[in-house]
This record gives sequence, structure tokens and C-alpha cells, in this order.
Amino acid sequence: MFCFSPSIHNCYVDLVLFGIQGSGKGTQARRLAKEFDYDIFEAGGELRKIAASGSKLGETVKSYVDKGNLVPHEIIMQVVKEAILARPKSQKILFDGIPRDLDQMRGFDQIMKEVGREFRCIHILLTPEEGLKRILERAKVEGRVDDADTAIVEKRMETFTEKTMLVIEEYKKQGKVIEIDGMKSVDEVYAGIVKE
Ligand code: AMP
Repeated sequence: MFCFSPSIHNCYVDLVLFGIQGSGKGTQARRLAKEFDYDIFEAGGELRKIAASGSKLGETVKSYVDKGNLVPHEIIMQVVKEAILARPKSQKILFDGIPRDLDQMRGFDQIMKEVGREFRCIHILLTPEEGLKRILERAKVEGRVDDADTAIVEKRMETFTEKTMLVIEEYKKQGKVIEIDGMKSVDEVYAGIVKE
């Protein structure tokens, strides 16, 4: 990577944002996108749009999303590949919600390699207890079916701790991950991310 700026956000490098449900990923993603011109690919949001489309594929996707299960590998990989190919090479992308397991990681790495895109990762650290508290609060405001049910939220968090953490560990070994304390205020977390 040829970039001599002290901040990765000023380089032509994509970003993968990791964090358990409730860690404030979405909020930080929107601020980063605005300030540093990232285009956000939010896996959950894209899948919810497909689920609401009324198509046959939408019905399938909805049956997974509503229960808090990961949608099948082929579907999410196709969605992310199309999203990457639809953007010009010069447009930095911020990935939120992908890759979530080791299979997705392999697929994601392969696609990124094929199209010649580089990325770094940020992991916003938060305990599941704090995440759950925040998500149940958010449910009152946003009215998401999969946020309002504690059992479903816990299942999504379990997927994070059991599957996504393995991905983060792998990227950590590759020196790609920056860790940020998510217990701090939104502004402090943002300042921590921007400093990198
Ligand atoms: P989120 O908004 O990130 O919590 O995602 C909401 C739901 O979308 C998840 O519970 C899954 O059903 C689905 N989803 C999001 N990202 C992925 C992914 N990378 N792979 C499979 N399913 C996903």
C-alpha cells in the first residue's frame, strides 16, 4: 500500500468495521463515510431491502433475517460481489457486517484480491451485556423485528462471538486490525478511530 498519510482514512484503502450488535458500528460508519468519503456497504441493511422487495429471493432472505440467522453463503457473497463491482475502483468502501464467518472471509478475500482492493479492519470492542442493553433501547426507536426480541438478539450476538470473532482473530494475525474501546462516548470512539 503506497500511502504516506498518518491516517488510513486518507488513503485509498477500504475499511471493514467489526463490532458486536449494539457497539455503535452504524453510527461510526455514517460519520466516517461523511468525513472521509467512504461508500457504506451495510450487509444487514442490504439484506433487509431484499427481504422487503417481495421477490422469491426476498422471501428466502426474510426467513433468515427475521430469525436472526445468517443468510446462506451464496446469497450474501453474490450481494457483496455485485455491490463491489457496481462501484468505481476509486471509490473507497466501508464494509459493515461482512465477513461474519470464516467461509465468508475466504470468499471476501478472494473477491477483493480479484478486483485489486485493499482493506484494513477496525474492531469496536464491547461486552455482549452492554450491547444487548443498547439494542433493546434501539428497538423502541427503530422498530426492527429482530431487535425487539431478546432471544433473537442473543442469537445474533452468539453468531458474533462464535463465528465472527474467528474472522477478527485471523485478520489480527495478518496485522490488519485496529481495536477501539466501544464503552466510551460516541465522540470518543470516533476520535479513536480517526486517529488511526
Ligand atoms: P445486522 O443488522 O448486521 O445485525 O444484520 C441483520 C441480519 O441480516 C442478521 O441477523 C442476518 O440474518 C443478516 N445478515 C447480515 N449480515 C450478514 C452476513 N454477512 N451474512 C449472512 N447474513 C447476514
